[in-house]
Amino acid sequence: MKKRIAIFGSTGSIGTQALDVITAHPELFEVEILTAHSNDELLIQQALQHQPNAVVIVDEKKYQTVKNALAGTDVKVFTGEKSLEEVAAFDTYDMMLAAIVGFAGLSPTLQAVSNKKAVALANKETLVVAGDLVMSKAVEHKSPMLPVDSEHSAIFQCLIGEHRNPIEKIILTASGGPFRGKKPNFLLNVKRDHALQHPNWSMGAKITIDSATLMNKGLEMIEAKWLFNLRPDQIQVVIHPQSIIHSMVQFEDGSIKAQMGLPDMKLPIQYALGFPHRLANDFPRYDFKKVNTLTFEEPDLRTFRNLALAMDALQKGGNLPCVLNAANEIAVWAFLRNRIGFLDMTDVIEKTMQHVTHIEKPTLDEYFETDAEARSYAASLIRL
Ligand code: NAD
Ligand code: MG
Repeated sequence: MKKRIAIFGSTGSIGTQALDVITAHPELFEVEILTAHSNDELLIQQALQHQPNAVVIVDEKKYQTVKNALAGTDVKVFTGEKSLEEVAAFDTYDMMLAAIVGFAGLSPTLQAVSNKKAVALANKETLVVAGDLVMSKAVEHKSPMLPVDSEHSAIFQCLIGEHRNPIEKIILTASGGPFRGKKPNFLLNVKRDHALQHPNWSMGAKITIDSATLMNKGLEMIEAKWLFNLRPDQIQVVIHPQSIIHSMVQFEDGSIKAQMGLPDMKLPIQYALGFPHRLANDFPRYDFKKVNTLTFEEPDLRTFRNLALAMDALQKGGNLPCVLNAANEIAVWAFLRNRIGFLDMTDVIEKTMQHVTHIEKPTLDEYFETDAEARSYAASLIRL
């Protein structure tokens, strides 16, 4: 039996790499659902190649184009934001790859979990916003959560065979991004195109900016808390510019396990899709002779204040991580359009975190309200 995969966000960086993995293993996987926000051309091409049962094009203006292009096939075409949840409720797939970017990924992922489906989770914002609700639903419905984020995949792999051994702490590695070692006077003048050049990874625009500000590592700390059921003080961040060690786990005897490899997202994507099996591939291998020095540094929290803000949200919990995420999505959006400067992003997030009322144990509705309030306040600061 082939595993039937539903790729939510199939036209993105993770989505397209997942399709490469699936194409390389036609005996193991088949594509059941593909979704895209507005890239109709790529979605059509993917649908013609993989012949899924259904596709979603969220942007309603693109619906007719997609419908016409797929008229001669059996592919069902849906449109509108709500249809993401509708197709996530289908019974015809085995695993969702959650690869939509941002808060928009929350509802379909929750739907997959309620639908008792396995989830390969790339969309970290889902756990940042509502990790408590998502993980408790996953436990309730026995839906496996398989991390795709490379750090969390590394930790997951280190924990195999350690079922009864408590974690002392985890060490999340970070490349440091394109501005490692820089100070605020440099960052003041940083422009979008420079920030989009990541030294080690090729990714979507939002996560690339998050990597440059170190917000990405902050989001990953919160993601790790929920995935591995950790206290904030058990989560450490270390800068490792070579991106060869993808993260580590330290056990109660002081022993540390690390997972290593070249920085290539296809590896954690393939591991999540193929779990528990390791699938043979021809990806380039790490060679000790070529990269023979692995180095480590403390993160500079005074310069990269987004990481400090995320640590604060991790500590205080409740709806604060949801506020942090919403304000960050607005700030990154504005930075990508040259509407605000690099350091302004931090100000927007900090002010929004101070503004929105704290809720200790939010309901799902309260997470949605918090997200909307934080977005509109952050937008008002930028005068969008
Ligand atoms: P991307 O921008 O390249 O792709 C995003 C995908 O989501 C696209 O298919 C797009 O059509 C869809 N999308 C965007 N907005 C949407 C909306 N409002 N509604 C429905 N669909 C929407 O992003 P990416 O880099 O592939 O990242 C996807 C997720 O994976 C993010 O949460 C990111 O943090 C996480 N992640 C990515 C990488 C990476 O290497 N790219 C690594 C680790 C984690
Ligand atoms: Mg990561």
